[in-house]
Amino acid sequence: MLTDQQFMRYSRQLLIAEIGENRQTQLLNAHIIIIGLGGLGSPAAHYLASAGIGKLTIIDDDIVHISNLQRQTLYNSFDIDKLKTEAAQKRLRAINPDCQITIITQRLNQAQLTKQIKQADVVLDCTDNMPSRLLINRVCVSLSKTCISASAIGFHGQITIFQPPYQHGCYACLYPDGQEVTRNCQTAGVLGPVVGMMGTLQALEAIKKICQIPSLLDSHIQLFNGLDLSWQTLMRSRSRHCPVCNHHPTNEGDNETTR
Ligand SMILES: [Zn+2]
Repeated sequence: MLTDQQFMRYSRQLLIAEIGENRQTQLLNAHIIIIGLGGLGSPAAHYLASAGIGKLTIIDDDIVHISNLQRQTLYNSFDIDKLKTEAAQKRLRAINPDCQITIITQRLNQAQLTKQIKQADVVLDCTDNMPSRLLINRVCVSLSKTCISASAIGFHGQITIFQPPYQHGCYACLYPDGQEVTRNCQTAGVLGPVVGMMGTLQALEAIKKICQIPSLLDSHIQLFNGLDLSWQTLMRSRSRHCPVCNHHPTNEGDNETTR
């Protein structure tokens, strides 16, 4: 049951047929983890807190650097040298007191990450490096948790969703170990509006997931080209040799067509 304040705060999204009061209540009961509070995590956290997600756990071990401000919209010049988690928590609390924000200011190992992800409904991978993404993927698959994954480099962005029963594979199917792409924001550069759009889409997909609205990204990856504003949609497939999702209980022993 929504309060009068909540009816006013969420009035514009309550009007949407796919949301309404029941779905809004589900959003208020949801727990989402955002790993990485950079160019993706900033808009994702902002929109999810605004939309009334009841619990957000935000994880980042970094401090705000002046070079972050070009794209990481949760921070301003007064936050430089402060912890991103603390600056973000302050900002998000000011946006929406309905949203309970838990901060974790350390890089988590597999056991610690497992403990956190276990408690969440949806995970947003907003990190910017391959080892973190592979670790998050392993933990999410082992716990059968939905992971919304995005990245951006230069004018290009991509987004997809990995979820049980992993008929369309997981992150490790897409980028098997040993084929690491070492480019990231520090080495290749990134434009604020491009990474911001991908983070915004992660928030959109998380809201859809909590509201049980199906998504094309459950089976596809979408690639954005900011130079000509084109989108490419590719179907993902599970690799029979994937050491991660092939051991998922629902996949063991099946003979699905693979790439
Ligand atoms: Zn896989």
